[in-house]
Amino acid sequence: LEPVLSVDNLSVEYLTEDVSVKAVRDVSLHINAGETLGIAGESGSGKSTLALSILRYLGENGRITSGNIEYHGASILDLSSKELRALRGNEIAHVPQDPNTSLNPSMRVGDQIAEVLRTHRDISRAEAMEQTYDVLREVNIPDPERNAKQYPHELSGGQQQRVLLAIALACQPQLLILDEPTTGLDVTTQAKILDLINELIEERNTSVLLITHNLGVISRIADRVGIMYAGEILEYGSTEKIFESPANPYTQGLLASLPQGDNQRLKPIPGQIGDLTAVSDGCTFANRCEFAEPACRSGSIQMEAVRGESDHLTQCRRWEHALTNPIQADTQ
Ligand code: ATP
Ligand code: MG
Repeated sequence: LEPVLSVDNLSVEYLTEDVSVKAVRDVSLHINAGETLGIAGESGSGKSTLALSILRYLGENGRITSGNIEYHGASILDLSSKELRALRGNEIAHVPQDPNTSLNPSMRVGDQIAEVLRTHRDISRAEAMEQTYDVLREVNIPDPERNAKQYPHELSGGQQQRVLLAIALACQPQLLILDEPTTGLDVTTQAKILDLINELIEERNTSVLLITHNLGVISRIADRVGIMYAGEILEYGSTEKIFESPANPYTQGLLASLPQGDNQRLKPIPGQIGDLTAVSDGCTFANRCEFAEPACRSGSIQMEAVRGESDHLTQCRRWEHALTNPIQADTQ
């Protein structure tokens, strides 16, 4: 069966004054019908850049330097701007990371949803409004007729997130790209939004690319996961396998840094992502990795199947060692 989305060896750079930032490097992934792929990784690992590349939303200074992106087997990179407009918001919907930039502050939220519908469907204003109320109801907006007439600033952060989801879902896309859908919300609201996303995904059989640095969210919602670091995917495979037997020291470090109980101290990974303008040979995580050996600092490191399993891949010369001596959270 052909994947809904496949990304092959994608590299993306941002040109700044005098240097180029290699924000995504040689990333490959796919999403099957009805499947949710979670992408996690520290701030600056290239998650949003990856998401923006898919619908070619990269800003002026961002460019795809190599690789391919296919939707149902057809290259997105080859589409004309007209074809691209027909895809955006209709077949594939993207909810960007910052809700403030994605809602139009001077337009009633109902009109923003109706506009997306009328861009892609040949329907009257009245029909568009009916469908707008339906989709607002679906995302549990309390009073669709009244709330549709409000401006974004009149809604709470949680309601704004629901409206963004409504805009994304309005045309029933096959693929939904959600970039940190719960940032800035309190814990209770986060949980409600995540439950909603989970329900919607299951009801509609939508494929989802779910980006979050929150591994707890990924473990609850995603079927498969990609762990990103410094522009690369270092571990990729079934959520169950990656959470139960992570084989990459970076993944292990991320999991060990999760709060897991009252008596547990947080154990952050020391150091930070290095300079993305001058990427050197070998593993980019080596300078922070407690398992690193001289061999880790040279050559190009390939993805390997962990224990030969095709649904668990990792890019690490020392995965066998890491698997048998995993980094664990400090308990006391
Ligand atoms: P976060 O978790 O903080 O959202 P992220 O994983 O989404 O981080 P990106 O936003 O994709 O990371 O950024 C990846 C790298 O690209 C970072 O080093 C960032 O500074 C850089 N970057 C992102 N956007 C631009 C831009 N428009 N111009 C130059 N550099 C950029
Ligand atoms: Mg981001």
